[in-house]
Amino acid sequence: MREYVPVYYPRFRCTASACRHTCCAGWEIDIDGETAALYASVPGPFGEELRRSMALANGEARFLMTGNGRCPFLDDTGLCRIYTRLGEEALCQICRDHPRYRNVFSSWVEEGLGMCCEEAARVILTETEKARLIPREGTAGPRPKGRREKAFLAFRDRVLAVLWDRAIPLEARLSSLEAAGLCPFVGPAAAWRERLLCLEALEKDWRGLLEERLGAERPLPGGWDLPLEQAAVYFVTRHLPGALEDGAFQARCGLVVLLSRLLCALLAGEDRPSLERLTDLCRRLSTEIEYSDENVPALLEALGGEEG
Ligand code: SF4
Repeated sequence: MREYVPVYYPRFRCTASACRHTCCAGWEIDIDGETAALYASVPGPFGEELRRSMALANGEARFLMTGNGRCPFLDDTGLCRIYTRLGEEALCQICRDHPRYRNVFSSWVEEGLGMCCEEAARVILTETEKARLIPREGTAGPRPKGRREKAFLAFRDRVLAVLWDRAIPLEARLSSLEAAGLCPFVGPAAAWRERLLCLEALEKDWRGLLEERLGAERPLPGGWDLPLEQAAVYFVTRHLPGALEDGAFQARCGLVVLLSRLLCALLAGEDRPSLERLTDLCRRLSTEIEYSDENVPALLEALGGEEG
């Protein structure tokens, strides 16, 4: 099947022990059935440890995280002991894939990098080309599309054409999406403060950050349009394809506008905005909103989702 990835995709490499916010801590790690069966067959003391470190609930296996929320196989240097002892093939599916996400169409797949990973966020934000999807090396074949997929691609092309109009400031591009009826009127991020504060929060100081940055929005100094465009286009490639399932084309485009403005407001509140700070804000926004099973649907509903 033909596969597409964003232009920046080949630059991504997991930074492993150099990562400051490892994905091996802070949330549940499910173990797929095939990998659980493999772990059941590993001999010796390491196999015993694997089996002791798994919990089974309703037929689903997951790692028993340590008291401070880390994977029990994450060593003190930030390396995975399953990887170092048994090799990459022994990682469970979620660990092999992360931070990649996939959108599956009828005859092709689009794969991207999730911004909850700090290195993925850095790679995305530092791209200078328009972040087009390009065919992945080694995959080929025709890409027949149904009527709905053609309508989806046409809609996405219109959204991307607006976001890639580098002749005008990014905020004007976001406003153009509203003016063109490609999304509902979203308004400033500050107008969403109360709703955002009601969402599920993972890190305890996330709500405090929202309260502070959305309380009195500051203007964003110039010079940030390029990385913020890359973030907005990432939101498009990540969230728009869901419209093929739920029909919420405009609401999903509204989500792109909302998340982009939220990111601008968070960055504007920095005393010294920097690429490093923006990268961290992307990581946090993505972790809190994109990777929550509850928060994206809640925002889509607020944006008038379920358009059928
Ligand atoms: S968050 Fe990203 S860079 Fe860090 S360990 Fe996970 S995949 Fe690697």
